Amino acid sequence: MRILFLGAPGAGKGTQCKKLASKYSLAHLSSGDILRDAVKNGTQAGLAAKEFMDKGMLVPDNVLIDLFREKLAQPACSKGFILDGFPRNLAQAESLDGLLSELKANLDKVIDLKTADDLLEERITGRRVCPNKACNAVYHIKFSKPKQDGVCDLCGTELSHRSDDKPELVKQRLSVYHELTSPLIEFYRGKQLLATVNGEGEQEQIFADILATLN
Ligand code: AMP
Repeated sequence: MRILFLGAPGAGKGTQCKKLASKYSLAHLSSGDILRDAVKNGTQAGLAAKEFMDKGMLVPDNVLIDLFREKLAQPACSKGFILDGFPRNLAQAESLDGLLSELKANLDKVIDLKTADDLLEERITGRRVCPNKACNAVYHIKFSKPKQDGVCDLCGTELSHRSDDKPELVKQRLSVYHELTSPLIEFYRGKQLLATVNGEGEQEQIFADILATLN
């Protein structure tokens, strides 16, 4: 199964992709996680990406395309994958088409998680993440609290607040989404791959709706 998720920052793509990846043993390729790792490890891609991420802007297309060309060719993706956060504009979507046809691996479904902007802002600014790379669990100070304040339930690491999840950058990231990423909805509708899922409500219900579109 090869699935692509669309949706604004804070729509809950990461959470749903993790559940889906674990249910069907698929590789989960999150562009944000891959870039944050690259920044942490000081790789060339990370050095190129950091200044754009710090401003809530899109990292140049060639950085993402090179990273995903390498990831998609890895054996971990041969049994199927979920793309989360890539592509983020039309040029990336067209490059992805090229990469996938080289690999003879067409997408089966594109899921657009739809959520109203005011809810997105609250979800993003209240988000807390586990910085332990092996865990990467995500919490929310109101909607999905850890058992102990500020500590990851799964691995005990102190939770952190992503610097681009602070209120001053959230509006910028949402406007980038509306201007550059949301046209992909029509792009994939035109290819008859699109399914829209309501991203508001309980996580379990959203997951059930996603499964229903895949079956
Ligand atoms: P995310 O965790 O998906 O919200 O991504 C965090 C940041 O990484 C974004 O605000 C962008 O700066 C960068 N980023 C993630 N995916 C992409 C992409 N496909 N194209 C360009 N920049 C990206």
